[in-house]
Amino acid sequence: MPTMAGRGDFDLAGLRGEFPIFAAQGPRFHYLDNAATGQICRAAAEALIDFETRARANVKRGVYRLADEATRAFEEARARIAGYIGAREAAEVVITSGTTHALNLAAHCLCARLRPGDEILLTTAEHHSNIVPWQLAGARVGATIRAIPLQTDGRLDLDRLADLLSARTRVIAATHCSNVTGAITDIGRLAEAARSVGAVLVVDGAQRAPHGPLDVQALGCDLYALSGHKLFAATGAGALWIRSDLAQELPPFLGGGEMIRRVSIESSTFAPPPHRFEAGTPPIGAALALGAAAAWLSGLDWEAIHAHEQRLLERLLAGLKAIPGVRLLGPEGTQARAPLVSFVVDGIHPHDVCQLLDTFGVCTRGGHHCAQPLHEALGVEASVRASIALYNDEADIEALLDGLEEVVRRLA
Ligand code: PLP
Repeated sequence: MPTMAGRGDFDLAGLRGEFPIFAAQGPRFHYLDNAATGQICRAAAEALIDFETRARANVKRGVYRLADEATRAFEEARARIAGYIGAREAAEVVITSGTTHALNLAAHCLCARLRPGDEILLTTAEHHSNIVPWQLAGARVGATIRAIPLQTDGRLDLDRLADLLSARTRVIAATHCSNVTGAITDIGRLAEAARSVGAVLVVDGAQRAPHGPLDVQALGCDLYALSGHKLFAATGAGALWIRSDLAQELPPFLGGGEMIRRVSIESSTFAPPPHRFEAGTPPIGAALALGAAAAWLSGLDWEAIHAHEQRLLERLLAGLKAIPGVRLLGPEGTQARAPLVSFVVDGIHPHDVCQLLDTFGVCTRGGHHCAQPLHEALGVEASVRASIALYNDEADIEALLDGLEEVVRRLA
C-alpha cells in the first residue's frame, strides 16, 4: 500500500482504510470517477446504518424519545455541515437532496426578486443543473440569460464581466469549480461584480466541496450548493447555504408538511428558515451521513491532502501529455485547479476509451458530463474525465496512464 514517503504526517494507507470500498473491491480497483460520486467514508456509512437500524424515527414532529433523538441528530448534522462550509449559523443550511435540488430551490425562490427584462448572468462552464433551473425561472418571469464566455485556455474570461453586467443583472450563478476542466472560479471577483450592481451571487460548490473545508462568508457569495454523495457521504442528501438575511426574505420552494407556521384552507404562513425550505420528510439518514462526513473531513490535515492531490494531478497531466493523440481540455497547468482532467483521444470515442480502461480496473467517465455548452465552447462533443479524490494513490494514476497507452496502441 503506498505511503507518502518523507511526509510522516500524512498516512495515505490509513486514510484509504477509512473507505470500506477499497477492502471490498481489492487491489485492481482504480476509482477515478470522483467528480461523479465520491466513495463513502466509514464515519458516514456508520451514521447512516446506525440511524436506519437503531435510531430511526421521523424528525421535527414526534414527541417521544426516539423522535426527539432523531430531530436532535438531524440538527446536529446541519451544524456539522455549517462548520465545514464556514456558515455563521446552522440555520443558514438547508438540507436538500443534492446540488441539483439546491440550485432549483435557489432559482425558484429568487424568482420572487426578478421582474420582466431582468438579467441572470451564468457562465459557459456550468453543469446543466446550474443552467436549466435558471432557464425555467427566466421563462417564468421574462428574465434574460447571459453567460460569461471562456478564454482560449478554457478558463472563464472574467475581463468580460464589465460588458456583461448591467443595472438589470439580478443574479449571478457560477460554478466554484468546473466539473470538466477542474478550473477554479475567482468567486471573489464575481462577488465584487454582484455587489456593484446589487445582484445575488449563487455558487455551485459540488466539485469544490470535496477538496477541503470552505469559508462561504469569506467567499462573499449569497448562496452555496453542494452534494453529499460527492463529499464522501451517502446519496440522497446535499445542502444549500443561504445567507441569513436573504433567507428571511425568500418565499418557500416546495409546499407541504413541516414548512408552515399555520395552514387554513384558504392560505398558509410559513416557518422561518431553514424549515421553510424543507417541506416533507427530509433525507434523514443521508443527512446524518453528510454531517458525519463533514465532521470527519473537518479534522483532516488538508495542507497535506492538497499537496498529495496536486502531486497526483501533476503526474496525471504530464503522463497524459506524453501519450500521442491525447488532447487535454482546458487549462494545462495545476494552478487554481481541482485535481480533475478531461481529455479526448484522436479517433476513439470517449465511451470506448472508458470501456477499455475498465478492463484495466480503471473507472473514468466518458460523455458530455452534463456540460454541453462547455464542450461546445471547447469544440468537442464529449470527453473522458479522470477525477482524483483524497484517497487516490500513484497506482491509480499509473494504471490509467498504462491502460490508456495500451488503448491508443490498439485502436488509434
Ligand atoms: N454541479 C456540478 C458542478 C456537478 O459536477 C454536478 C454533478 O456532477 C452537479 C452540479 C449535480 O449534482 P447532483 O447530481 O449531486 O445534484
